[in-house]
Amino acid sequence: MMKSKNVIITVITTLVFLSCATNPFTGKQTMALVPNSQLFPTAFQQYDQFLSENKVIKGTADAEMVKRVGQKIAVAAERWLNANGHVGYLNDYKWEYNLVDDKAVNAWCMPGGKIVVYTGILPITKGEAGLAAVLGHEVSHALANHGQQRMSASMLQQIGAVGLNVALQDNKNLGLFNQAYGIGSQVGVMLPFSRSHETEADTIGLTLMAIAGYNPEEAVELWKRMSAQGGQAPPELLSTHPSNESRIANLKALVPKAKEEARKFGVTSFKQN
Ligand SMILES: [Zn+2]
Repeated sequence: MMKSKNVIITVITTLVFLSCATNPFTGKQTMALVPNSQLFPTAFQQYDQFLSENKVIKGTADAEMVKRVGQKIAVAAERWLNANGHVGYLNDYKWEYNLVDDKAVNAWCMPGGKIVVYTGILPITKGEAGLAAVLGHEVSHALANHGQQRMSASMLQQIGAVGLNVALQDNKNLGLFNQAYGIGSQVGVMLPFSRSHETEADTIGLTLMAIAGYNPEEAVELWKRMSAQGGQAPPELLSTHPSNESRIANLKALVPKAKEEARKFGVTSFKQN
């Protein structure tokens, strides 16, 4: 009994050791039990399914804005990664930006750059800069593989619980994927990101929006407006992105650094809306 437990621990340790990815933004080693080469196809499939089951808005000014701002954030990410020695990091990304007709106050970016913005968030993002703040943040979760880490953590729990019968290509993977990304109809409830992942996404997102030419101060205003929506029925985005005074203060403190980073890319003026 003891012996098999040791074997399991050894296997888990080896798995974790062999399955680390480096977060290019923080330099930190992160857990990646499911490599992006497996994760991205699942994400792309789930994204297409989501689009087929929801009303995608095309050709309107708002839909164009989502594409425009999303593209700018993607270009900013590529410029930052290239300049910091991570050429090719986005090779397998297939960016897509869609506006979906849904009153939920929400937006997300799945692995590989698959973005959805719900119409319900637009009254809170207001202009382009507010949308850039949301997309910069959501894209940063994807770039830093936060969902993947959450999925890896769930897999480890399962391995611990059921022994070694967890194959990486198991059907259970889809359940774990949906739990990590929250778009599956069966699971549906995405767990909130951890405080440290939120701070990381805030920091990276602020830099990206600044490099994209948007005033990072607008992120502070955006989260203030978002928090003001709280109360009895907090918006969906708030349920996965708990916001509070310290978060807003932290964002405010990070603004000068984001602007400084953007200046390295020749960006000296920042759009307010
Ligand atoms: Zn977040």
